[in-house]
Amino acid sequence: MSAAPTDRQPVESRDTFGRPLKSLRLSVTDRCNLRCQYCMPEEDYTWLPRETLLSFEEITTLTGVCTDLGVDKVRLTGGEPLLRRGLPALITMLRHNTGLKEIALTTNGVLLADEADALHEAGLHRVTVSLDTLKPERFKALTRRDTLARVTEGIESAARVGFKNLKLDTVAIRGYNDDELVDLIEYGKGVNAEVRFIEYMDVGGATDWSLDKVVTRAAMLDLLGRRYGRIDPLQEDSSAPAQRFRLPDGTTFGIIASTTTPFCATCDRSRLTADGLWFLCLYAKDGMDLRQPLRAGASRDEIMARIRSGWQARQDRGAEQRKELERLGIRARLVEIERLREDPHLEMHARGG
Ligand code: SAM
Ligand code: SF4
Ligand code: SF4
Repeated sequence: MSAAPTDRQPVESRDTFGRPLKSLRLSVTDRCNLRCQYCMPEEDYTWLPRETLLSFEEITTLTGVCTDLGVDKVRLTGGEPLLRRGLPALITMLRHNTGLKEIALTTNGVLLADEADALHEAGLHRVTVSLDTLKPERFKALTRRDTLARVTEGIESAARVGFKNLKLDTVAIRGYNDDELVDLIEYGKGVNAEVRFIEYMDVGGATDWSLDKVVTRAAMLDLLGRRYGRIDPLQEDSSAPAQRFRLPDGTTFGIIASTTTPFCATCDRSRLTADGLWFLCLYAKDGMDLRQPLRAGASRDEIMARIRSGWQARQDRGAEQRKELERLGIRARLVEIERLREDPHLEMHARGG
């Protein structure tokens, strides 16, 4: 099957709730060089077999089929995407796809200083760096690695090589980093990056999650209001998960209230794991295997038919359903550790955040 982009006009696909297929998260590896407590708190993990990982040609081909169905944004993620050797080459290949308006990357930043130039040269549009703390000891405790200085160096390199609209994503956890929200906003100002605070989610892999550790959007606004005074919400018409706010000095920041105020109603995202399983929701238990038909020689139209019918049948609204369980008082861990070991696709680090 040809990996070349087509000149077809995208055929818009809508799911059972009328949500279009617009955005695709491409997980390029399930490996990671950090062990964040909210994502990979366990000692051991089951990794995807290397021979099952999609090649850059395969990723480009599947992305091409998705753009024919309406996808216009991709985000490279993982695991840690910068661990995938030669990532700029994938970006160059994706840039040939004229259906894509935006190619973004989410990274933990550890390897960003080495790669920022090549990523920018390859045509990557946007970079988001995950940054939960500015305190080296805390970083070490949270990630089990002592690499905060490399992350901040990475952020500064990204700004220096010319990435505009840099974003810093912070998972706020009660008793851990909720005393640093102001410091993170101030740090963001200094490097010209917008900070987005994310509510701690009970996704697969978050085996230490509990409701009392979630810092809610309301609590964050209260905390920030005490320091900055008036905080105005921005009126935006967007399917983006972050609600954005403005401080009195004009600084903007975002909050992704995935746990307390799910945005499933407008969710246009799906996810492709590094080994080619296509998931329609962060909380979905099963994904559609696209690697197998691709490697068996299925035509582009056959693969497109699978993706289209999968999306048209989509009923996922995982975060809303989790919230309903909470109302019933039965919200508990999403997946047991034994199940995660049997099927690593259930992990956040396999399907991409
Ligand atoms: N390794 C890269 C990184 O950390 O940026 C990319 C993959 S990571 C899975 C993507 C995003 O998911 C990160 O911003 C991370 O903070 C977020 N994430 C992981 N587990 C989470 C959880 N339990 N709740 C909320 N966000 C989470
Ligand atoms: Fe942390 Fe990202 Fe690695 Fe998960 S995938 S452990 S969030 S760096
Ligand atoms: Fe989309 Fe699922 Fe997240 Fe809801 S929980 S916003 S449907 S990925």
